[in-house]
Amino acid sequence: MKEVRTRFAPSPTGFMHLGGVRTALYAWLFAKKNGGKFILRIEDTDQKRYVEGAVEVIYETLRECGLNWDEGPYIQSRRRDEYLKYAKELVKKGEAYYCDCDGENCECGGLSLTSGIIRQRVTGEGKTSFNDEIYGVITVENSEIEEQVLIKSDGMPTYNFANVIDDHFMNITHVIRGNEFLSSTPKHVLLYKAFGWEPPVYIHCAQIMRDSSHKLSKRDGDAYFSDFRDKGYLTEAIINYIALLGWSPKGALAEREIFSLEELVEAFDAGGISKSPAIFDRDKLKAINAHYIRSMPPEKFTELAKPYIPKADVDYGVLCAALQQRTEVFSDIPPQTDFIERACDYEIGLYDNKKMKTSPETALQALNAALEILGNGLFSRDALYGGFKETAEKSERKIGWYLYPLQIALTGKSAAPGGGLDICVILGKDESLTRIKQAIKKIIVKQSH
Ligand SMILES: [Zn+2]
Repeated sequence: MKEVRTRFAPSPTGFMHLGGVRTALYAWLFAKKNGGKFILRIEDTDQKRYVEGAVEVIYETLRECGLNWDEGPYIQSRRRDEYLKYAKELVKKGEAYYCDCDGENCECGGLSLTSGIIRQRVTGEGKTSFNDEIYGVITVENSEIEEQVLIKSDGMPTYNFANVIDDHFMNITHVIRGNEFLSSTPKHVLLYKAFGWEPPVYIHCAQIMRDSSHKLSKRDGDAYFSDFRDKGYLTEAIINYIALLGWSPKGALAEREIFSLEELVEAFDAGGISKSPAIFDRDKLKAINAHYIRSMPPEKFTELAKPYIPKADVDYGVLCAALQQRTEVFSDIPPQTDFIERACDYEIGLYDNKKMKTSPETALQALNAALEILGNGLFSRDALYGGFKETAEKSERKIGWYLYPLQIALTGKSAAPGGGLDICVILGKDESLTRIKQAIKKIIVKQSH
């Protein structure tokens, strides 16, 4: 059997669209699953659309995703003479012609022209058919196929022409790409026919949509791979999610949602690729990301979370242990840790809590008790807990009656990553005592008004 060879052939026109990453992923998975090769080719013959730095973004993104290529990168613009050679061969065969006009009722007719533009010849009769693994047999009347330009006046091949030449000479067996190329595939098939070559197997994937009628576009601010990395999503979660965006595992794995890249190789099967558009579901991506965050080793979480936490003299270990279970995306961290530098501004009404039976008045008593507990014994979570428990028992109150106001005093927030005791340990003894004293003063000042 022939070796399976797939390719990813992006144009360097900017950041990597999520759809592009998914195409690369499917092509990579298909090659790996079948013990084949994955080839990277940069289709940069349209110099007008070329964006500086875009090639590097492609390399970095693929590497970051673990989609390493076995061959390439092949750069089309460096192979321009190759394409011209094969276009001239088609002219000799009568399958292409030099043309200076727009191609309609062309009378240019010569075997060479100064402009150098070469156009494919399509006889108006007959039909062109090809089989797509996802969409089945597609047939187009030749009269509907435009006589496309193969070589432009700058001597560069057009996208469609270079694509066919390269797929053939790189021995690509399976072309996996977005279905926006479905309509130009008949042109490609005609070129294979003109050369007398065998076309590859086509696997066109449905697009990723924002909803039933809109594509996932850059205007939404979440179309690019880098958008999601910037928002604090993990690469493995993005890859896991987009694998399932238009492909479903079968059999025993049908209900499964969490896959590592290695597990995807095992499970992947082109037959599971969907014909209908995939709707991007941000909540699902978030849930998968949360799964990866919660199941990573605490040291790894701490390392990845640190850039999102204000720099201060705090106990990062305790803080991160509390944050890990409360974080779905790393960008959830800054709003949870804004109290670290100083307690957030709050109204003393925040001490009112029916469930805890607290108010600014009770908070004053609780915080004065806290001053004593923190000031006396050992400063550890267990020792503090023991101190508050004893005080609560003596006064016949629930421990929350003390700890809830403590949390407010330390953070200025009714929801924090951890209760009053955790926050004490995170901030340390001195900082905690300072904040409790400030909070007591604040209640007294407000009450006297
Ligand atoms: Zn012409």
